[in-house]
Amino acid sequence: MSRVRLRNVKMLTYGIVMKVKSRVALAVLALLASGCADRGRAVDVREVDPPRVTGASVVARRPVVRGHGVDAPVVIVAIDGARWQEVFEGVDRTLSSSAPLPAAAIFRNLHGLGNERGAFIGAPGHGTIVASGPNYVSLPGYTELLGGRTSPCTHNNCSRTTLPSILDEAHAAGAKVAAFASWDKLDLATTMSPGSFLSSCGRRGEPLVDPWPGHGDYRPDRITASAALAYYEAEQPDVFFLGLGDADEYAHRGDYGGYLAALRHADDTIGRLVALLDGLGERGRKTHIIVTADHGRASDFRNHGPMPEAARVWMAAVGPRFAARGPVTSPQRRHLADIVPTLRTVLGLPPDTSEHSGAPIEELF
Ligand SMILES: [Zn+2]
Repeated sequence: MSRVRLRNVKMLTYGIVMKVKSRVALAVLALLASGCADRGRAVDVREVDPPRVTGASVVARRPVVRGHGVDAPVVIVAIDGARWQEVFEGVDRTLSSSAPLPAAAIFRNLHGLGNERGAFIGAPGHGTIVASGPNYVSLPGYTELLGGRTSPCTHNNCSRTTLPSILDEAHAAGAKVAAFASWDKLDLATTMSPGSFLSSCGRRGEPLVDPWPGHGDYRPDRITASAALAYYEAEQPDVFFLGLGDADEYAHRGDYGGYLAALRHADDTIGRLVALLDGLGERGRKTHIIVTADHGRASDFRNHGPMPEAARVWMAAVGPRFAARGPVTSPQRRHLADIVPTLRTVLGLPPDTSEHSGAPIEELF
C-alpha cells in the first residue's frame, strides 16, 4: 500500500473531513473507492475527470448542468433498520432510562426535510409504508427499494439481483450514478451489472478498517459517509445511493444507546449532504432527496421479526417535484417498491409495466 493511500485511509478512519481539492487527493479517493467497489471493474482514475482547481472550491468551479440522461439529480439515503418510533416519536422510554429526547432532537436534519422542505410518508396517523416481505430483513428490503418491485429475494443470502435497479436504469439512460454503503452485501442490490458504475460497499478486506459495529467486510458509517460525501462533492453524480448500516448493527447487539448514536450520526450525515447540495446553486435546488429504511424492527427492538412492526418503514421526500406538505396522508398502504416508480417520474425514465412493479406515490406530487 502506498504511503498516500495509507494516509487517506487514516483520514477516513478517524473521521477527518476530506476536502477533495487536488488531482492527487481525488485519485486517492478513487483508488480507495475502487478497492471497495465491485471486483468487476476498478475505477480508472482518468475517468474521474477532476476540474482544475487553484484554491477555489471544487463545487464552485463546477458548471451547473442538467442531469445527464435524466431530468433531475436524485439522492437516495437508507438508514438500515431505523424504526419509525425514533423517527417520529423520539427515544423509546421502555428501552432507555435516560432523559426523554424528542424525535426532532435525534433527527434535526431529517425533520427539516420531512416537515419543512418536503414531506413524510408513513408518519403516525397518516397511513403506512411497508417493506413487502415476507421476511423483513435487509437484502430483500434493499432489492425492493432499489428495484421498484416486490423482490424475489426473501433472505440475506440471495445472489445478485437479476433485474435492473434504478441505478442500472439511470446508468443505461446515460446518467452518472454511484452507490456507497456500509454493508458489503448491499452491492448485490445496487446493480445487476457489477462494474458498470462505482458501487463501493463494505471494506472489501481493507485491513486498516475495523468493521465494528459490524463484522466481516462491513465498513462503519463514519467511513462510508465521509467517502460518499467527498465523492459526491467532487463528482456530482446524477443518481446517488448512500446506505448507512450502524443503527441496525447496534440494534442487533441490543445496544440501544449505540443505536441512538448511529441514528444521530446518520442525521448528521443528512445535514452534511443537504449543506453540500445547498452550496451547489441550481443543481442543488433541482436535486430530489429520498431518505428511508429497508425494514422496521420487531417489538423486542433487537431483532427483525414479523408483520406488522418489522415491515413498517417511513420515508422523507424533498425536491422541486414534491410538494412541501410535511406529513402526508396516504390513501392506501404504500410499499418500498413504490419509491422507484415515484423516482422514475422525477427522473423522466419510462415506467415499469411488469406485474411486480410498485406504483408512484401520487400524494407526494
Ligand atoms: Zn437491514
